[in-house]
Amino acid sequence: MILLSFDIEEFDMPFEYGRDISFEEQMAVSKEGAQRILQLLEKQGIKATFYVTANFAQHAPEIVNRIIEGGHEVASHGYFHSNFKPEHLKASKEVLEEITKTRVEGYRMARMMPVPETEIKKAGYIYNSSINPTFLPGRYNKLNEPRTYFLREGVWQLPASVSPFFRFPLFWLSFHNLPASLYRFLVKWTCKKDGYLNVYFHPWEFMPIGPKEKYNFPGYVTKNTDGKMMERLEQFILWAKKRNYTFVRTKDFIHNIVLQISIPIANDASTVCLQHY
Ligand SMILES: [Zn+2]
Repeated sequence: MILLSFDIEEFDMPFEYGRDISFEEQMAVSKEGAQRILQLLEKQGIKATFYVTANFAQHAPEIVNRIIEGGHEVASHGYFHSNFKPEHLKASKEVLEEITKTRVEGYRMARMMPVPETEIKKAGYIYNSSINPTFLPGRYNKLNEPRTYFLREGVWQLPASVSPFFRFPLFWLSFHNLPASLYRFLVKWTCKKDGYLNVYFHPWEFMPIGPKEKYNFPGYVTKNTDGKMMERLEQFILWAKKRNYTFVRTKDFIHNIVLQISIPIANDASTVCLQHY
């Protein structure tokens, strides 16, 4: 099973590289990138999960509704991408539920930063996919976290996938920079060991963000983006389908795999289940 996800936020990454960018431009890049992703998923007939900031949703409700109409899942990526307060957990969920008229069950913190788990539970989320259980120099060291899903403080944790043993991350940067054959080898190995893959991308990866656009991004960020990313992801999807991997929304994985397995073995898991269903 492959849990494909996209973090849909206002495109604030240029700030990290010392480049100013207007809010209009941030939204324009993310909106167009999100449309490209939706077209690709529709063409391939697969479903995914979109972690959306409330700020993006309020300024582009038509995109969020296209996500829902496409049969995909909308989860929360916080209120603002560059600013977090614990009250944003509940507030972003409410904004997204109001716009989509569906229940928001999952959360992912901006930049995979730490977030108080009890607050996530209080805000009413069932799962949290905010851990990248690897070591990223200058960002975080999560080598002590489990590689696969587990329950913490009443919230299901769904870490981003990393390879077994040396925990090579299989997130967006690896997808761009590794040779496609090596990436696929690591995916096969991880899926065989774990039974699923949880990977994430962003709309701006599907947009022109190279030196010409002057966002000051290093080469490893811009490598294989724009049209090349469209092609790369499509080829990956075709490869995965040929090998009978199925693409599922994260909430379906949580309902059908995680909760089903856990109910007989963990009492607090069934409490989570009963509280919410
Ligand atoms: Zn993000």
